[in-house]
Order: sequence, then C-alpha cells, then structure tokens
Amino acid sequence: MNTQPRRRKISLISALAALAIALPLSLQVAAEGTATSTTAVVGPTQIVRVPTPTLSDRNRLAKLNLDFAGTVGRSAIDVVVDSAAVKTRLKRAGFTWTVVVEDVEAAEQERIRADKAYAAAKPGGSALPSGRTTYRTLADYEAEMATLVSRYPTQVRLLTLNHSSLEGRPIHGIEVGTAVNTDDGRPTFLVMGEHHAREWPSAEVTMEFAYDLLQTGTARTQNILDNARVVFVPVVNPDGFEVSRSGDYELKRKNCRLVDGQLPAPGACALRDNRPFGTDPNRNYGAKWGGPGSSFLVDSEIYAGAGPFSEPEVQNIRELISSRQVVGHISNHTYSALVLRPPGYAADGLAYDEELLRSLGDQMAAEMGYASIYGWQLYDTTGTTEDWSYSATGGLGFTFELGTNGFHPRFATVIPLYLGHTKKVPNGGIREALFIAAESAINNARHSVIEGSAPAGATLRLTKTFPTSTWSGSTFTDTLDDTMVVPASGSWTWHVNPSTRPAVAAANGTEAWTLTCGGQTLPVTVDRGELVNVGTLTC
Ligand SMILES: [Zn+2]
Repeated sequence: MNTQPRRRKISLISALAALAIALPLSLQVAAEGTATSTTAVVGPTQIVRVPTPTLSDRNRLAKLNLDFAGTVGRSAIDVVVDSAAVKTRLKRAGFTWTVVVEDVEAAEQERIRADKAYAAAKPGGSALPSGRTTYRTLADYEAEMATLVSRYPTQVRLLTLNHSSLEGRPIHGIEVGTAVNTDDGRPTFLVMGEHHAREWPSAEVTMEFAYDLLQTGTARTQNILDNARVVFVPVVNPDGFEVSRSGDYELKRKNCRLVDGQLPAPGACALRDNRPFGTDPNRNYGAKWGGPGSSFLVDSEIYAGAGPFSEPEVQNIRELISSRQVVGHISNHTYSALVLRPPGYAADGLAYDEELLRSLGDQMAAEMGYASIYGWQLYDTTGTTEDWSYSATGGLGFTFELGTNGFHPRFATVIPLYLGHTKKVPNGGIREALFIAAESAINNARHSVIEGSAPAGATLRLTKTFPTSTWSGSTFTDTLDDTMVVPASGSWTWHVNPSTRPAVAAANGTEAWTLTCGGQTLPVTVDRGELVNVGTLTC
C-alpha cells in the first residue's frame, strides 16, 4: 500500500536528515528550508475540537489521517493543527471545529511557569506516594527504579527488557512482590506508561502505584504483594520521551524510527525536519496489524511501522508478555477520560470475554469518573497493545486514557487524577482503579490454575505456539514460553492464562498448553476460572 510515494519520501527525508547532521549550521538552514515546503506552518500550532456525535463521524474523521490529541467522551475529537493543510482537510470533509488551545507552544510555556510555582509552593512534597511535585525526566525514572531496588531488595527487582531502544537506551522496568526473586507460579499484573512520548502522566501514575504497593503497608497492599508479581514499565518509549520531556518538541508522540529498517543517526530524532517521522508504538503490535485506524504513511502520527512488531520498544512488551503469565494489564495514555477494552476494531464484533471485560472496565472507570467502552465504540484502531495481548494470551488488558485537558497538563492536576476523592474525581481515582485491576489479577475466577506435585527445585515449562493474523491476512508465529521452579514442598500451583485463545473458544474449539518437566511432556487444557490438577510429575 502506498509503496511508491513512501519510498520516494524516505529517500528525500533520509538525505535531508543526513545533510542536517553532516553540514555546518549555515547550510542546515537551506536543508530545513527545502523541507518546510512540504509541511508549511501557518501561525502557531493549535488544538481544535471537532464535533463527532456518531460512530460514523468518528470513523470518517479517523480516516483523514490527522493527529488526534484526545476525545471529549465520544461527542468530539481534539485534533492537533500544525499546518494549514489540516484545516483544509477538515473543511473538505465537511467537519467544523472550535479552537480549544490557540497556541500550543504558549500554553506549554504557561504550564512550565505554573509547574515551577507549584513545586516552589510545596517544599514538603505533594500528597502523591512519592511526594513528587514535578514531572519526572527519564533520568528520574531510572534513578528511582534503582533506588526502589536497593531500598526493597526482597520485594523489587530490576528488569532490563530484551531490546534497547533505537537510540541505544536500555529499557527498564521493575517487578514488585513478596520474595520477588523466587520463580514461583504467581500471576503477573503489568502496568505500562509512555507508549506515546508526550503523554507524561501515563508514566507518573505507573510509578506512583509502585510506591503505593511498597510503602502503604495495609492488608490490601500485602495481599497483592503476596499473591501477584506486579511489573511496571513506566517508559516503554524512552527515545520519544526524551525528545518530548527534555528536548524541544513536547508534541513528540512516536518512537525514533525515522527510516524503516534503519537506526537513527545520533541526534537526528530531535531535529525539526524529522518531527513527522517515527513509528506509532501503539499501532505496531501484530494482531490485525495494518488495518483501520493505522496508516502506512511514514509521516502519519499513526504510522503502523514496516511490519508487525518491527519496533524494539514493542518487541520488548511482546516478549515480556509472552514469557510470563500476564493475566491482566493496564496501558496508560492521555487524554480522553476513557477506559478502553478490546477489541479496537469493529470487524470482529465483541470480545469472547466481553461480559467480564465490561464489568471490570466499568468498575475501574467508575473510580475515575470515566466512560467504559470497547475500543471501536470510539473509532476503529488496529495494532494496539491489548488487541494483540488479548488475542494471543486471553489476559485481560485495558487502555486508560487519563484526564481531559491535554497530553501533560499542569503537574498539580496529576495529583487528584491519581488520588481521587475530589469534586472532579469523586471516587478513588487511578489509584483505586489500579488496585481493582491488581485484585482482579489475583482472582482465580478470572484466570486459570494448574497444580500438581513434582521434585522440589525442578523447572516446569509451559509453552504454546500458534499463528496470529495481520489485517491483510498474512500470519506470523506467536510463541508463549514461561517457566516456574517447584518449591521445596514439592507441590506447585501455577496461575496462568486460559489454554484456549479467545477466538478459538468463540468458535467452540479448544487448545492446550504443553507442560514440560525434564523428559516429561503433557498437554493441559484449562478454562478461565478452572483449576486442573495434573497429579504427580516425575520429571
Ligand atoms: Zn497514547
């Protein structure tokens, strides 16, 4: 699709990027001048609100390949306007709009001033579990994760995900739980932030929940620590986050894949001319990759990438989920005041587990005062995190679209967002929603359990291999492969995802896990809410 213009564009831009790096400043001006003719900016970048009362309006708007900022419930969509062409496209398609942010850059300067004043007025810290009064930088996340590991050595371990970012940054997370260094069969609950670079609160709330679990010391936090492994990856897309948070392009959304299949030259991702480029990490997951709500244009903010899972940041999350029993996850984003559940696209109707997903989504959304919907009630998207994870594992995954007023509004607004119990967020906020999600992950009725006995210290392995389809119908192989070690007692319990994938269950089929111990192999079929005892393994 669009192969010809895409190739031409890549070669032009990569030539420009190379020029911009290699040439002295006086000549760079000429290179930039050449590029701006394709993206002429008229006046300041704005955010406009486009009324979209019906699903058909929203899907029609989604096809215009615009940069969506967020939504107002479902009645309107906010669009970033960074060129006259955007308004022309809206007008030609018959849409109207009102301007909600006259000048994004000026609003950002105002936010910076307000945040400085807020921090200065709170020398004793905020009410957040960490006490933070400003948005963290990437270095802050790294330092705080390392500090938590040293402060709670038996309850926190550092995870280095399998792939470094395109700019060569290691990508870290932490795993939190009682006796975290044992390899037992507890279920994993995963919380992520910063797939999208400009959505800073998504990482803030992720980190705050880690502090909450470790510091609060209630029966409720202990129950989660004892019965789950909670994995936090606050910054999935660190290259993009650096450009947005610490560079000079706060609207950066995607990763730093400037040219398909190539690593970016040092510093190239931050260059003005390269701003349109990058792959959207939340359109790069493999299930139904490349369908509606994503784009094959490299300068689209919803560019799906060169292929399913082409991006290292997305491969990381795929491999994390494929090598553990992630029975639930939350992927944080901003903004729209929504809790989204799979599927993201209409073609397959509702999820096999719609009733369970809806009730959990509704319960979490109520705490935040948000709407709870399946993804395609908003508009069609494909290649998103939970569409792949749910189709491949049956784990219950949700996207939180946090807040109502901007990608990274004043820091003071993050505190009520997280803690709730305010006029605007009357219930328990994101904090309570994450507690509900964590408690759902340790609820045996919502995943599957396999148990038995085996020699103490033996390693058990659970695997499954199957094809997953992209939107065009081509397939790739997914392999789930997880291990646990039999405890000293010799009796083991493994909290796992159902053996049958949702789409197979919907067609009345069944699938089995392959359980291996030493030379012994047996198939295990287990449903959601079911406990299967496989007896004694000799391994
Ligand atoms: Zn997002």
